[in-house]
Amino acid sequence: MSKKLVVGNWKMHGSRAANAELLKGLLEADLSASAPRSNVAVCVPFPYLGEVVATLQGSAITVGSQDVSAQAQGAYTGEVSGAMVREFGARYAIVGHSERRSYHSESDQLVADKAKAALAQGLVPIVCVGETLAEREADQTEAVVGRQLKAVADTLGADLSKVVVAYEPVWAIGTGKTASPAQAQAVHAFLRAQLKAAQAQAVNVPLLYGGSVKPDNAAELFSQTDIDGGLIGGASLKASDFAAIARAA
Ligand code: PEP
Repeated sequence: MSKKLVVGNWKMHGSRAANAELLKGLLEADLSASAPRSNVAVCVPFPYLGEVVATLQGSAITVGSQDVSAQAQGAYTGEVSGAMVREFGARYAIVGHSERRSYHSESDQLVADKAKAALAQGLVPIVCVGETLAEREADQTEAVVGRQLKAVADTLGADLSKVVVAYEPVWAIGTGKTASPAQAQAVHAFLRAQLKAAQAQAVNVPLLYGGSVKPDNAAELFSQTDIDGGLIGGASLKASDFAAIARAA
C-alpha cells in the first residue's frame, strides 16, 4: 500500500501567534507515529514560510505555499517565484486552487504554467481541479476536470508523473457539503485513467480529495481505491482536527 498524503491549506488565515499555537498542537500530536502510513504537509501564506519551516524542523510535517508565479523572476510586481518559496524550505506549492481560478481569473494554461515553474524550482505542484455545482448538475464534471488536467498534461509532458493532483469539487469547499465517498471515487478513477492515458507513469500520481474533509468523514474517503489522501482547508486550522484527519490516513 502506498503512503497517503494529507495536506493542510491554511488559506489567508493566521498570525505569528496563532501559527505558533497551531504548530505547537500539531507537534504535540506527534504525527511521526503515523509517518510509515502517511506524509503530512501544511501550505501556509508566503510571509510565514520561513518561520513555519523552522518550527517544524525535525518533525514529520513538511511545508508548502498556496500559489507560485508562472515566471522565474523579473518585473512581476507582487508575484512570488518558486525559487523564493524553495529557498524558504518549502517542498510543495498548491496551484490552481478554485479560489484562485475564480477570484483571480486563473486560466487552465496559467495553472499549467505555474505547475511547470514549480517543478523547475524543485517544488512538487499540487494541481487542483474541480467542477462547480452548476457544472455537476449539467453533467459536465468529467469534461471540466478532464479539460483542467489536459492543460497540465500537455504542458508538462513526461514530467506529469511528478505532480500531485487534488480533486476539489468547488461546491464542497468550505461549504460543509462533502462529495460522498462514491462520488469522489468516481471522479478519482476518471482522473487516474486520464493521467494514465496522457503518460503511463502518471498512473501513480497521488490523487487527493478536498472539500469539507473532517475527522468524521476522512477515514471513509481515504479508504476509496483511488483516493490517496486529502487537501484540507478549514479543518487544518484546528490542530486536533487536522491530526485526527492525518491519523485517519
Ligand atoms: C481547500 O481550501 O482546499 C478546502 C478543501 O477547504 P475545506 O476543507 O475548508 O472545504
